[in-house]
Amino acid sequence: MSCHRPEASTSATRSADGADHNAFSLMQPRAPAATPKEARNGARVKIHNVAPQGVYLPNYNVLTPSMRSPEYVQMSTAAALTLGIMSGKMHRCECTRCLNLLLTYPEGCRANCAYCGLARHREAERDYADRNFIRVDWPAVPLAQAIDIVARDGAKSPFHRMCISMITHPRSDEDTVTVLRQWTDRIDPATIPVSILSNPTTMRREDVARLHDLGADIFTVALDAATPEIFERTRGKGVQSPHSWSKYWEILMDAREIFGAGKFGAHIIVGMGESEHDVLTLVQRLVDLGGHSHMFCFFPEKGSLMDHLPATPRDQWRRVQLARYLIDYRGVRVEHMKFDGEGRVVDFGLPRAELDAVVDAGTAFRTSGCPGKFAEDVSACDRPYGDSPPSNIASYPFAPNGNDLRRIRKQLRIVEAK
Ligand code: SF4
Repeated sequence: MSCHRPEASTSATRSADGADHNAFSLMQPRAPAATPKEARNGARVKIHNVAPQGVYLPNYNVLTPSMRSPEYVQMSTAAALTLGIMSGKMHRCECTRCLNLLLTYPEGCRANCAYCGLARHREAERDYADRNFIRVDWPAVPLAQAIDIVARDGAKSPFHRMCISMITHPRSDEDTVTVLRQWTDRIDPATIPVSILSNPTTMRREDVARLHDLGADIFTVALDAATPEIFERTRGKGVQSPHSWSKYWEILMDAREIFGAGKFGAHIIVGMGESEHDVLTLVQRLVDLGGHSHMFCFFPEKGSLMDHLPATPRDQWRRVQLARYLIDYRGVRVEHMKFDGEGRVVDFGLPRAELDAVVDAGTAFRTSGCPGKFAEDVSACDRPYGDSPPSNIASYPFAPNGNDLRRIRKQLRIVEAK
């Protein structure tokens, strides 16, 4: 098994209509179709009720076992390779530094986000544990087995962080607490800190406080959409999904108070129809609140309601990556930058020599997320090829080399300094 797989989907430098950014008018999701009754709510898996036998690798030729958190969790292919429960190689990566544990249930996630491979509408075609998510398969693993391996490796563990990823399910809040308790019973959170990727729709302030009291280090909210209009269209009523922009902000502000400065953040997907000015204004707002932004480049996930749409053109993505890094780590403010009539960055607000140094350092173009043990601005959560194929990398899961940087400069249209 390798993360390097042939890709039919788009990952162009420019979008299908030749524009160098994905405009709002272009990025309309398909409407979800009705799911037949016999496929709803994990019915197929629950009727057959096949007992799981240890690690389950997504397999469309066998009956999917009935696996449920907290006994079972799913993890990315990269995490399973790093943990040694799958064999294979990743393109230019030895391992991932973040062990992401995704809650799992036969009923799956009850939300219907348009860009997501786990969305509810997919129950018509594929059982939950077999769905692709951020471009790769997510094997299901007994939680105890994952904890045993990390506890056994002790200080030698390759992981710099663990992240519990909630989904929208009535059991999600309680099971997140159980997973966190079972982890911290065996693994010191000072050695491998824990992040929570939350699901605000089912949460109350007390739930946020409880996770903090139990030792979680960072709390993030997957806002995903950069504006309320895009939120509504991609994960609210526009696609028969239960989320609301105001509830997400309510829990984000609770996290700010409970976890404190530098310990909360929001995920944002770039290229779903917002302007660069929109997304960077949001990045600035998060920094002003004391938080961070974790960026993803929109990729048309196969089977999602947006799989017919173009990936974010690389010029748009690189400009936003660079500007976001300057705001998050270099004290530049969005008001210092200049934008054109379509909201694209035309001036990063920094003298040319300083900008060149930031580009050459390459960190701005690495995957962004919660920090690991290397540096404050290097994410433990490196998500290898989670938002692009390896042939046209969006977020670098490693330090970009000279060739990578030359390519990045071309995409940014910033010529090399002499
Ligand atoms: S809530 Fe999260 S897991 Fe569920 S459909 Fe939306 S993005 Fe996917």
